[in-house]
Amino acid sequence: MSKSRVIFAGAGPGAPDLLTLRTARALAAADLVIYAGSLVNPEVLKHCRQGCRLVDSAAIDLDEVIALIEKTVSKDERVVRLHTGDPSMYGAISEQMNRLDELAIEYEVIPGVSSVFAAAAALQCELTMPDLSQSLILTRTAGRTPMPDRETVANFAATGATMAFFLSAGNLETLAKELTAAGITPDTPAAVVYRASWSNQKIVRGSLKMIAAAAKDAGIRRQALLLVGRVLDRSGELSRLYDKHFSHGYRSRREDEFFVGNCALYAMSKTGLAKALELAGALPEADIFVPERILSTETAGNSGSTVRVQAFAEGRLSELLKQQWDSFSAHIFIAATGIAVRKIAPLLKSKTCDPAVVVCDENGASAISLVGGHIAGANRLARKIAAVTGGRAIITTATDIHNLLAFDELASRCGWRVRNPEMIKVFNAALLENRRIDVLLPPEQFTDFYQERKNLKLISSLSEAEAGYVVVYKQPVDQHPSAADSKKLILYLDDQHA
Ligand code: SAH
Repeated sequence: MSKSRVIFAGAGPGAPDLLTLRTARALAAADLVIYAGSLVNPEVLKHCRQGCRLVDSAAIDLDEVIALIEKTVSKDERVVRLHTGDPSMYGAISEQMNRLDELAIEYEVIPGVSSVFAAAAALQCELTMPDLSQSLILTRTAGRTPMPDRETVANFAATGATMAFFLSAGNLETLAKELTAAGITPDTPAAVVYRASWSNQKIVRGSLKMIAAAAKDAGIRRQALLLVGRVLDRSGELSRLYDKHFSHGYRSRREDEFFVGNCALYAMSKTGLAKALELAGALPEADIFVPERILSTETAGNSGSTVRVQAFAEGRLSELLKQQWDSFSAHIFIAATGIAVRKIAPLLKSKTCDPAVVVCDENGASAISLVGGHIAGANRLARKIAAVTGGRAIITTATDIHNLLAFDELASRCGWRVRNPEMIKVFNAALLENRRIDVLLPPEQFTDFYQERKNLKLISSLSEAEAGYVVVYKQPVDQHPSAADSKKLILYLDDQHA
């Protein structure tokens, strides 16, 4: 038991079993508890003993708090000043400690679980992920307390680190605008957590561009945290390789993180159409196709955008698909996976020429990369869609789930082609099996994508190749020692039109 008669303690985020044992013991021994009424869950006060006096600090000012503490201590009784979360974050404890110093009253501080960690737990997210963010910014927007000059949203945003905003739930719209103006892309994952760990906890997930409106819809105006950052994307871990090259010098190569090409979206219901419109707004080029019955009840088009919504006759989806299969880079079904699989089955030819196919459910909870994960870019497209809807990208290609950049994906990202696609499987398997692979690639791409892979060695001419597997870019097939002779397997990459 602490010798100090006065304890500043963290009550944790709300749940009565999310405070430290030390705080629970301090509460059980206290004669007086002064707690922050609006923020401390009354449930937490059940740790206090019978007969303990409870005072809500919202009803009294600093002088009164200090007077109460002084009086209690003078009777040799124990006081707990209970703050929400951890007392060191926006707890205004310094002014109280200064006053107690003046009165020569000793005190002790017991840490607590901050709401930011309860929010991360509720979101089941790791706030620091390799290559995405290794820092967490805890900040707020100005209220009665102004923000110091250099602690601007723009300065924080420039770091690219994960951000958590306290005391800002009433300000979300302005804050989201400021973050966007500071260069955070509107699709960046964001989440608002209201009363993390309380029984009435609410979570709103999405992207920066819609989070304020969504939180408003959910009726959240206070006692909530806004979290912003790529770590929140549940596919973040999978996508980290895709973002890897940003961390090497931050070159402006954003475009190859994303899907490029025209997309056909198929929606089968009114809800599906709403989702398709949301997605179309975030895709480079998109046309939406819906059965006639839906279009007749819905206003076509999307405010200010160039999205076209076209109707097809009932029961004619297969025909429409067949007709436009090759004229779109991607086909996105806002429908059940079964429907998509049946419709595309007769049209599939090979992974080198099939377009990307992604299935997204009406709620946007899952975006499944179904066909054309690498070469056609369906994995990237699924991630993009998930980032827009706040859902999860379902990626099943083996290299991706092991955070490896497959060679056909490399080719697709760089605008190259694989000249001997029959070798793709063999090489991606070698990548997965961690085999030694020599690569004759432009050094820039090697640095961007494979530098950290110990089993890949950059070579500058084919004669240097020692490994059984060799990946070459722009090497004429007929000007190298024959693969058969050297027992080497070679994957040939080339420019798209070479
Ligand atoms: N010391 C506290 C923060 C106090 S400032 C801590 O460490 O968590 C009050 C702000 O904290 C609120 O405006 C809100 O942004 C946040 N907050 C406190 N408890 C919360 C909870 N259970 N869920 C979400 N946000 C919470």
